[in-house]
Amino acid sequence: MAHLSSKKRRKTRKISLGNVQIGGGAPAVVQSMTNTDTRDVETTVAQIHALEGLGCEIIRIAVLDNEAAEAIPLIKKRIAIPLIADIHFHYQLAIDAIKNGADGIRINPGNIAKDKIREVVQVAKERETVIRIGVNSGSLEKDLVAEHGGATAEALCISALRNIEMFEDIGFDRIKLSLKSSDVNTMIEAYRSISAKTDYPLHLGVTDAAIKSALGIGNLLYDGIGDTIRVSVTGSPLLEIPVAYSILRALKIRQVGPDIVSCPTCGRCQIDLLGLTEKVEKALIGRKKYLKVALMGCVVNGPGEAADADIGIAGGKGFGMLFKKGVQYKKVEENEFVPVLLEEIKLMDEENKEV
Ligand code: SF4
Repeated sequence: MAHLSSKKRRKTRKISLGNVQIGGGAPAVVQSMTNTDTRDVETTVAQIHALEGLGCEIIRIAVLDNEAAEAIPLIKKRIAIPLIADIHFHYQLAIDAIKNGADGIRINPGNIAKDKIREVVQVAKERETVIRIGVNSGSLEKDLVAEHGGATAEALCISALRNIEMFEDIGFDRIKLSLKSSDVNTMIEAYRSISAKTDYPLHLGVTDAAIKSALGIGNLLYDGIGDTIRVSVTGSPLLEIPVAYSILRALKIRQVGPDIVSCPTCGRCQIDLLGLTEKVEKALIGRKKYLKVALMGCVVNGPGEAADADIGIAGGKGFGMLFKKGVQYKKVEENEFVPVLLEEIKLMDEENKEV
């Protein structure tokens, strides 16, 4: 997948998670998490395959018990992307997940005793496993909450730095960090602060819905901060991936997939723009190659936006003007919008292949 690198991108250490490079100038990587019962290998693998198809590049699974830890090798051998085991509370499960071949584990330092974390780190060091230190405002160490009067950005940072120090004392540096909060301001401040204090790669996430994710992750990416991202959406994780790529495309960090520009419509619109947009979006699901498609309701802004895209339609009354590579191309009847657009996109892809 092509990407545009940001000049002001923060320099981070390079770590390898399976076959994916994180940090060290690599493009921001899109991550998701299954919401299946990990012990149900078939269903979990099917969801991972669906996520992979949409462009998910790293997958995290919840490991709640021994049976889930034992499912790791069975899942791993059937998927192509790196697998991270998400562990809370039970340090032994973290050790088992590492021994069972997880490429990385995510632990929440607020939920595991320090001496037990040391044991986990020791095993991860031997197996060259990546560990994400996932600091979370909902489970921050009690002494920090008391000292700072809550889970402030500073408290989140101190928790991360404490853990980095402990990991480094053991000689472990395959570290990724996340500092999550459902409060967007706290999240942004915490990441800005930690990025000035350490060069370990950062995983960006917000504990809440897509709009907060877009604001929090988007602001930080704009500042050049963030090596992996996960958008939070309540419901199917399949909804997360298009949002993640929309954020990356909007900031011109990675130009991948369909970039659909559609107007909000107003009283001037005389075509079924919503229906058209839904059909085109559906038809282009899973497309990896970048393509800007403008779907505009009328001739006020339509021709300009359509001409600025790779391909676009500016609506009229029962018809539309098709634009291709910046020029007005042909008039199309409304009932022909979708097949004509898709056919022209197919032709453009074929032409580009031949170049
Ligand atoms: S492009 Fe036309 S229909 Fe769409 S919002 Fe603008 S003025 Fe309204």
